[in-house]
Amino acid sequence: MTTTVSGARRLVLAPLRGLSGAQRVWLLTAAMSAATAALVAGPLSALPAPATGLGVPWPLLAVLFALCEVVVVNVQFRRDAHTISLGELPLVVGLYFVSPVGLVAAQLTGAAVALALHRRQTPMKLAFNVAHFGLEAALAALLFSLVPAHALFGAAGWAAVFAATTFAAVLAVSAMFAAVSLSEGRPAFAGWGREISTGLMFTGATTSMALLAVWMLAQRPQALWLLAVPGATLWTAYRAWVRERERGERLRFLSEVTQAISAAPDLEGAVAALLSHARGMFRAEVAELTLYPAEGSGLPLRTTAGPEGHGQVLRPVPHAGPRPARGAAALFRAGEPVPEGLAGRGYRDAMTATLATERGVFGELVVADRTCEATPFDQEDLQLLGTLAAQASVCLENGRLEKTLVQLSALKEHLRHQAFHDSLTGLVNRALFHDRVEHALSSRRREDGAVIVLLLDLDDFKAVNDSLGHDAGDQLLVEVAGRLEGCVRPGDTAARLGGDEFAVLVDDVEGIGAGIVVAERIHAALRAPVVLHGMEVAVHASIGIARADGIDDAATVLRNADVAMYEAKQQGKNRYGIYEHGMHHSARERLELRTQLRAAVDEDQLLLRFQPVVDLVSGAVVGAEALVRWAHPTRGLLAPDAFIAYAEESGLIVPLGAWVLDGALAQLSRWRADLGTSRPFTLAVNLSPRQLTQPGLAEEVRRLLGLHGVPPSDLMLEITESALIKDTPATLRVLRDLKALGVRIAVDDFGTGYSALSYLRQFPIDVLKISKPFVDDVRRGAEERALTEAIVRIAQALRLDTIAEGVEHADQREALRDMGCGYGQGFHFARPLPAGDLGALLRGPAAVTRSA
Ligand code: C2E
Ligand code: CA
Ligand code: CA
Repeated sequence: MTTTVSGARRLVLAPLRGLSGAQRVWLLTAAMSAATAALVAGPLSALPAPATGLGVPWPLLAVLFALCEVVVVNVQFRRDAHTISLGELPLVVGLYFVSPVGLVAAQLTGAAVALALHRRQTPMKLAFNVAHFGLEAALAALLFSLVPAHALFGAAGWAAVFAATTFAAVLAVSAMFAAVSLSEGRPAFAGWGREISTGLMFTGATTSMALLAVWMLAQRPQALWLLAVPGATLWTAYRAWVRERERGERLRFLSEVTQAISAAPDLEGAVAALLSHARGMFRAEVAELTLYPAEGSGLPLRTTAGPEGHGQVLRPVPHAGPRPARGAAALFRAGEPVPEGLAGRGYRDAMTATLATERGVFGELVVADRTCEATPFDQEDLQLLGTLAAQASVCLENGRLEKTLVQLSALKEHLRHQAFHDSLTGLVNRALFHDRVEHALSSRRREDGAVIVLLLDLDDFKAVNDSLGHDAGDQLLVEVAGRLEGCVRPGDTAARLGGDEFAVLVDDVEGIGAGIVVAERIHAALRAPVVLHGMEVAVHASIGIARADGIDDAATVLRNADVAMYEAKQQGKNRYGIYEHGMHHSARERLELRTQLRAAVDEDQLLLRFQPVVDLVSGAVVGAEALVRWAHPTRGLLAPDAFIAYAEESGLIVPLGAWVLDGALAQLSRWRADLGTSRPFTLAVNLSPRQLTQPGLAEEVRRLLGLHGVPPSDLMLEITESALIKDTPATLRVLRDLKALGVRIAVDDFGTGYSALSYLRQFPIDVLKISKPFVDDVRRGAEERALTEAIVRIAQALRLDTIAEGVEHADQREALRDMGCGYGQGFHFARPLPAGDLGALLRGPAAVTRSA
């Protein structure tokens, strides 16, 4: 048996880097040719033909060589693409009856003619095959020349022949594997042993036959025909065996592919398995599968497998061209015209086959760019590709395509979900929520009922983010989302609008009551603290509720809920607010108030109330606090909370404060006229932080005191704790100037800020007004009361008077008195009163007796 190479792959061997695979194979061919030439020119040149008595002309032997290369069995499978021939026959005949140089010449000529003319091999392949044939013949002749003339037909001669053909077979297989390795650029010797062993089996049998033929030729040429029968039998056996093996290989390959496709968990994996097997099998750079969806249901999806992960998976192809016809197959080699379906794809060479079921073609398999240009795709490859495609059709069809369509629609669903849901919490996002509200409203236009939108904003969420980190913040949002979902009916929608803002849509309800129920349910659900980084964090939320029927649009309802939520936050957080008509205007009204306030100061819309300050022991009214009110032309009497902040912002607080001071001192001078100078009475006036920074404040106070003829000691100025510590040196200067006038100074709302008591020492302060929460505390428990008591004690140590604010109950008054707190102010004694009422109180004994 002799072997000719038909396959080789491309790669890189280190010393040959920079050369192409083909160039490296040419190099091997040249080396073998050079070795053959050296042998022929050297040791072989002088050797005569063996003395066998029979001379065969070398051209006749060449014809025999050629015939053997024509009558061959092609074994072309995967990488092991080669041909089995009866080449040993002429070789052995040549060893006995032709000179070594003649043998080499016959081998070269015969093989070259057969391979070129009959098998039409490419120049590279032809040269390679002829080169290794020549080398084999030369080496065999050299080996055989060692046998002495008398031993040619004895054991020594036969052994030499077996050695020579064996060596030639091994050399042929090795040369082929070497060529493949060089072509691919990496050692590719897998299967070498198996190839040698099968090769040698045939070589042994052919060599035996050849020796018999040689023996008969030498002894009785007329008996040679007897060999025809075993020869033909042997030849048939070869063919049968090779075909069988080939079939076995194909089946094994197809079952491998089938298994790989079936084992793949999904379509993606199945296609990948198919393509990778196809690439390996056909020695192709690229394999690709285009799947055509059912008519009209979307774009074809193409998966491409290329070298080193170059590829793409199930990518939609907008311009895939028409679906191929059933059984369509194409093959084109480098330089040949490209079939229509493959035009413009940039392939050098390619084959295609279709995947189909009885329902029609659903895919097209393409393998392209043969790794070895020397062995282009041929009809056998195309046939095998067809078999592969048919096999793959069955595997892919078996429920898998349906599964794929489900997968694809699941993917679409997933993408849709992503577009309309919040990725962190999985809740509906703003876009979808808006849609749902719109949809609910349009239903309400057709049927009765209303929709309720709740807008929820976490209170102090920023603090969690800032102190515990964004992870903790995210965790909190996820937890809140989960609890929120638990609060809505199946038909309703919970959404995250962004940040810490959530929303709930309650559809088809009677009235606002349904919204209140949900709001209360949400507050109840949020009551349990959330554990973040092992810490319990309380969750509070302000909720705005808005009702809408078919008339409104989604944007309006959401805005209304937002207004209500803002109001709830204003009211003190962790509560819900219900949108009312008019609330909507509150923002505009707030703006109006600002402009109107200016006029109010000028046009005397302001007035004063006076809340008495009482001696906790005697119950006597020892003073009062002036509190401003705004008699608004349309909105009635407004409390300072409604406008003081604007006055602060706009700077109007300066003229307003001056107006209060002027009015309060005017009133005080009237009361003084009634009371005489002996009875202690101190009138307190609030100073805003902004007023404190006003240059000339002390001068203004002095002027007004003079104007109204009031002794400075009758006036007490209240300054909030936070204003005190804002700008210490400047504040200190102002306070000293005021103090120098002889007025008293009180720290208002003490305890709500954060000043340490000792810090107060540096300020010229006379009175500490204990803020309402500490006053409330005295009723609650020993612990809370201890804190209030501590404030009183330290105030005493600093020689400050103490006034308890917001005293509402008799027991508070008693407790405070027992602690040593000197004075009190609060609804328990009196509300802020018009000047006349306080005057009456001062004149009569009632106030004094009442508190006694
Ligand atoms: P403030 O200086 O702490 O005044 C005491 C506030 O407590 C008054 O509210 C008074 O009505 C209220 N109050 C008194 N006793 C009780 C009680 O027993 N229970 C309860 N719940 N509340 C009680 P009002 O008059 O609404 O004043 C609010 C705030 O407005 C004042 O707090 C003060 O900071 C500011 N303010 C009032 N008038 C003026 C002013 O002429 N100038 C400046 N800058 N601020 C003022
Ligand atoms: Ca005050
Ligand atoms: Ca106060």
